[in-house]
Amino acid sequence: MADQDISPRIALDADRRRPLVAIVGGGLSGAAVAYHLALTWREVQPAIIVFEPRPEIGRGLAYDTRNAAHRINVPAARMSLLPEQPEDFLQWIIDNDGLADDPEANRENGSVFPRRQLFGQYVAAALQPLVETGAIRHRQALVTDVSRDGAFWRLFDSQGGQSFADYLVIATSHPAPSTPRNLAALASHPRFVADSTIAGSLDVIRPDDRLLIVGNGLTAADVVASLALNGHRGRITSISRRGLRARGHAPVAQDPFGSFDAPLIPSAAQLLRHVRHTVVDAAAAGLTWHAVIDQVRGQGHAIWRNLPVSERRRLVRHLRPFWDVHRFRIAPQVEEVLDQAIEEGRMDVLAASVTDARVHGDEIHVTLRPRHGAPVEHVYDAAVVTTGPAHGGILDSQPWLANLRNHGHLQLDPTGLGIFCSDRSEAIGGEGAADPTLLISGPLARGTFGELMGLPQITEHAVFVAQELANKVRSVTVTV
Ligand SMILES: Cc1cc2nc3c(=O)[nH]c(=O)nc-3n(C[C@H](O)[C@H](O)[C@H](O)COP(=O)(O)OP(=O)(O)OC[C@H]3O[C@@H](n4cnc5c(N)ncnc54)[C@H](O)[C@@H]3O)c2cc1C
Repeated sequence: MADQDISPRIALDADRRRPLVAIVGGGLSGAAVAYHLALTWREVQPAIIVFEPRPEIGRGLAYDTRNAAHRINVPAARMSLLPEQPEDFLQWIIDNDGLADDPEANRENGSVFPRRQLFGQYVAAALQPLVETGAIRHRQALVTDVSRDGAFWRLFDSQGGQSFADYLVIATSHPAPSTPRNLAALASHPRFVADSTIAGSLDVIRPDDRLLIVGNGLTAADVVASLALNGHRGRITSISRRGLRARGHAPVAQDPFGSFDAPLIPSAAQLLRHVRHTVVDAAAAGLTWHAVIDQVRGQGHAIWRNLPVSERRRLVRHLRPFWDVHRFRIAPQVEEVLDQAIEEGRMDVLAASVTDARVHGDEIHVTLRPRHGAPVEHVYDAAVVTTGPAHGGILDSQPWLANLRNHGHLQLDPTGLGIFCSDRSEAIGGEGAADPTLLISGPLARGTFGELMGLPQITEHAVFVAQELANKVRSVTVTV
């Protein structure tokens, strides 16, 4: 049950001696911080309020979907709210007969890739008892403004409420994608989809439409699988600058292979060389590249922290597209749909960029410049942007984030990947000082923590943030 009956001005928690932690964003990151803070550090007992406009906390953008084509892209055995119990979700599936209507989730090699909505159900079910007992309050509203008020953070929300908190956690992660400038002229076209993550946004695409997809990552894979489920049979052209396609999983599970943290590697170029050599060694040992990338991901925090900012930037600029397609793997069911479309000649994956796009009557005329070649004009009936969330623009994505930046509380991470924070996840303001009352949780902290996009790393980070909060709350409670 969401917290609907909050008076317009919520004073501090009735018992003022309980510090109040406000978490903005109740997707997986915010929910996991609240969950671990409420459960693991019970003796500390801060008041916890999660601001999240969705009816349930824990789902967020990724798992708040009813689309049956949307599947988790990490095997269920590694998608857990509890880092110490990686198979917790798998066990929950068994206990709740979660695959009764989805036998396709089971793969021949024993791995399980259920629909994303099932994972959302698992997280929401874990949070629900804590919401019902009041250990976590769910304020079903958008935070619209935040300001400093003496020792407190003052939050205004879309239900007209005001709250005061001792600690503020920003867990709003994924902003909407931004439309590439060269596609702006298509905004008025009825079959131009600027944000395919909005439920029902693909309904405008007709079965025989010739479709352009801009961006080749996981969101593009979601789009192709969703359209296939709805009977789309038109031609699809999917483009990205390098024409790289999200890869699938290894045919059989493998242990991570190689070593990237002893000794730590001082530059992006050396890291790349070491990864390449290790892939060769892995092949000699009968393993695929997946095992190597898994090791890099597992040791990602140490690797990233050791690199100077200039080398982190170099990694982001030159290697990120390659990292993304190897590290974020598509579910095998989705991979099969894409493979089939390519084999049947219905889908092309191209290395190209858009140089011009215009609406021409009912059609969309787009000039594509191939990575190697001269620009050519193509005609489509529909276009979808799947370039992913615009994390670099996070501080301009919502007015209250811009206000916090303008008042010196936040700044963009120097790598452009999110919000600048310390290795205690405390936001670093414009003057360079970390604020112990303002924390960043989840993917927005990855400029500091490195790989922090997939669920296993997010839950580990959430446990860390909850521990940090518990320590802070404990020290305040002891001294009052
Ligand atoms: C489509 C998609 C599919 C994915 N699938 C997988 C997967 O299968 N496996 C995997 O490991 N990772 C997956 N990921 C990676 C993903 O980063 C994490 O798994 C995780 O879902 C991130 O959750 P989050 O809470 O950090 O972010 P989000 O899901 O973006 O949640 C942020 C929440 O903040 C809320 N919010 C925003 N602004 C405000 C405001 N002003 N006030 C109050 N609330 C606000 C939003 O409503 C949202 O619910 C996927 C990501 C996406 C985008």
